Amino acid sequence: MSDAELVVRSTRVITPEGTRAAAVAVTGGKITAVLPYDAQVPSGARFEDFGDDVLLPGLVDTHVHVNDPGRTHWEGFWTATRAAAAGGITTLIDMPLNSLPPTTTVDNLGTKQEVAEAKAHIDVGFWGGALPDNVKDLRPLHDAGVFGFKAFLSPSGVDEFPHLDQDQLARSLAEIAGFGGLLIVHAEDPHHLEAAPQHGGPKYADFLASRPRDAEDTAIAGLIAAAKRLDARVHVLHLSSSDALPLIAAAKAEGVRITVETCPHYLTLTAEEVPDGASEFKCCPPIRESANQDLLWQALADGTIDCVVTDHSPSTADLKTADFATAWGGISGLQLSLAAVWTEARKRGYGLEDVVRWMSSRTAQLAGLEQKGAIEAGRDADFAVLAPDETFTVDPATLQHRNRVTAYAGKTLSGVVKSTWLRGQRIVLDGEFTDPKGQLLTRTP
Ligand SMILES: [Zn+2]
Repeated sequence: MSDAELVVRSTRVITPEGTRAAAVAVTGGKITAVLPYDAQVPSGARFEDFGDDVLLPGLVDTHVHVNDPGRTHWEGFWTATRAAAAGGITTLIDMPLNSLPPTTTVDNLGTKQEVAEAKAHIDVGFWGGALPDNVKDLRPLHDAGVFGFKAFLSPSGVDEFPHLDQDQLARSLAEIAGFGGLLIVHAEDPHHLEAAPQHGGPKYADFLASRPRDAEDTAIAGLIAAAKRLDARVHVLHLSSSDALPLIAAAKAEGVRITVETCPHYLTLTAEEVPDGASEFKCCPPIRESANQDLLWQALADGTIDCVVTDHSPSTADLKTADFATAWGGISGLQLSLAAVWTEARKRGYGLEDVVRWMSSRTAQLAGLEQKGAIEAGRDADFAVLAPDETFTVDPATLQHRNRVTAYAGKTLSGVVKSTWLRGQRIVLDGEFTDPKGQLLTRTP
């Protein structure tokens, strides 16, 4: 403590042992100690007292489509990382598709890193992509520091990122398991999607019927079987279908190395409330019924679902047409994810400790980011300062992501992020940003 450069304190600090009044000492961007609230502050240290606002570890969002370079008019590192910082997120891991080039070779990774470096307001890492024809690139990408590999089992929405059939999945997964890597999967089965009624048009009910639960359930069952056969580590992206939960719970009980995420929109928005033509609510798999949502919450509580990530996937507003079949599928959630999840969580009787576990600790674990995801000695001094009882009404004009399309417009949410800190430096205060201070992250070997 005597050499601390910064001491921050709050009556409510969320630590791995629970919430308590504490002072947190920081040196060289790292937490050096979590001390009693009234610990003496060394004379040379900077001191910040957050009063009763909650000090929580910065969130780690492992599912973000930044689209930069190549589709930077959809989203870019400058705007995405500002939106994230404003929402209390201090680390994001970028998905390998929707940018041009996609992150499917070491050269392409280098291109992405170069673009991200100067624009990153928070720390940024990268997932690689597993395509039908890039098995030879997986090991080099792993060695270059990607956190794992994303694959689709059905069409991705962009031509340059084709999906894997079952044989290709097995081939890629065997290769990845061979070097101890992680495969993260968009799990919808293409045959079930093809067999579903495809009416198109503005009715949400028609769109929902076109992406049925059994497409997810079948794909997840196949993934579990492959993971078991190859003793591989897999992660299910953006789970929406609650019908898949018993399968997942059984696989976990059996020791299959599978983790699962869901997203704020599945936890806070329902099919029943989506107006016809409102494609700002379109994503794949889709937002389902409220009874489905109740089961997702239960699964988060009992650990069948591990974590919550945004799947922030924006486009320009003109691609969000009123026809659900052709509109771009993706929901922009970076800035609002913490408030949206916290608003619903508290209604359902969960605490901020739960939200932190789902959105920071477990996501840091998923990516192997041992320096992130908790307020304890030795970790990076990444914080969000949250006024959990303050409310605000979502005004798209206040959003920092590039195209201010949002499914949350007009909603009143609890939880205002007052400031966000990255490695001991305040990067946003009441909506005002510093110059970018983010670093590029690579997988810990
Ligand atoms: Zn995604």
